[in-house]
Amino acid sequence: MASQRFDHLQYCIRCCMPETQEGLKFDEMGICQACQSSEQKIHINWVERERVLRNLLEDVKAKAGNNYDCILPISGGKDSTFQMHVLVNVYKMKPLAVTFSHNWFSETGWYNLTNALEQFDIDHILFTPNRGLVNRLAKKSLSAIGDSCWHCHSGIGAFPLQIAVKFNIPLLIWGESIAEASGRASYLEPVRKFDREYFTKVSAKVKPEDMVGDGLTEKDLQPFMLPSAEECERVGLYGIHLGDYIFWDDERQTEFVRDTYGWKETEIEGAFKCYKSAECVMPGMHDFTCYLKRGFGRSSYQASVDVRNGLLTREEGFELAKKDMERPEALDYYLKITGLTEEEFYETMKSKRVPQLQGVDLPVIEKTRPNRERILPYPQQLQEDMSPKK
Ligand SMILES: [Zn+2]
Repeated sequence: MASQRFDHLQYCIRCCMPETQEGLKFDEMGICQACQSSEQKIHINWVERERVLRNLLEDVKAKAGNNYDCILPISGGKDSTFQMHVLVNVYKMKPLAVTFSHNWFSETGWYNLTNALEQFDIDHILFTPNRGLVNRLAKKSLSAIGDSCWHCHSGIGAFPLQIAVKFNIPLLIWGESIAEASGRASYLEPVRKFDREYFTKVSAKVKPEDMVGDGLTEKDLQPFMLPSAEECERVGLYGIHLGDYIFWDDERQTEFVRDTYGWKETEIEGAFKCYKSAECVMPGMHDFTCYLKRGFGRSSYQASVDVRNGLLTREEGFELAKKDMERPEALDYYLKITGLTEEEFYETMKSKRVPQLQGVDLPVIEKTRPNRERILPYPQQLQEDMSPKK
């Protein structure tokens, strides 16, 4: 089988990440920042950091009075359940959970979300953009940012902030540290302040106002708007990542939420782990477009995490990373909702390639068996199953 490894690209000498990852910086030895972070992580005094967190949260509770103590943005993924455990059962907080739905919930994801809310007895606000809007945005997203998921990147950034402002709740609490995955922060210098530009910069990249056109109006795009600087200022918005204060271990946490709270894994296209983005039917699409742009996808990323943690050798990592090249079933659904042809899809993706990969052959392989879970948003599955047959 062909390899997804490209001879002319520089790869981290420790893990499987190539130079084409956004924001990636190598040190003089050729080690990427995520690998450096994973070393820092071992030398951090986590007992001390936990004490800082405990004091901070005690302070927050005292100030909140009868209001919610914090906003907890959740997707229904394993981090959501773990964050709820930490905040509610360990620190006795009263969070307001907020979900911006991509409207692409998997059946497993819908179960995990509602199960977590039941397990922890948490109040919850769910926002779901309508189907037609999601479909139109998914189409525009490809040409705008080179993946299918602008509405999700943008909505999960903006919507919790809107709710924080409306409910006057200054603190937002996320899960995994930014240092874990990207070159954007390190464990030694965690990001604490989040200005409103932050989300546009790091994930959505294109502002809602720039998505207008092609059947999308400014009115359509209101749910994706960040609150104004004045509003953020008035409430005193700030955010923390629990992963900067408590030792983050995806594998152990997944086992813990599964065995303790009944969280469920599912097969995820393009990935060899069954817990990241389990709430969505489309991650395979997102990660495949990453491969077509940058020459690596979710499997390279997951393999790199395991290599860092000593669970795989680098060579074993590259072997597993071949899954990045698989054409996902989610592409069929994507073509259906956007009306694009497969040729148009690949043409657009070609124009989105990083300079290092232009003119390079990017092999694509067919999947050998269908995904265990249906690649159709759960609400649509329910409609199919339960509406009267014509
Ligand atoms: Zn590395």
